[in-house]
Amino acid sequence: MKVKIDEEECIGCGACTAVAEEYFELVDGKAKTKTDDVPEDIVDEILDTCPVGAIKKEE
Ligand code: SF4
Repeated sequence: MKVKIDEEECIGCGACTAVAEEYFELVDGKAKTKTDDVPEDIVDEILDTCPVGAIKKEE
């Protein structure tokens, strides 16, 4: 599943990378996905983890 990270909203807290470092990384203080194919269960977990709701599912 593809996810979109809103760079304006991301505060670079690192929560998503801590939970799923295989799929997310911090670049210049903003989260990026490492792949366009993130498993849906990981995405659901990350959506609950991000404190500012910067991560969104892309259908
Ligand atoms: S959890 Fe949300 S705010 Fe924190 S680094 Fe990831 S996308 Fe940014």
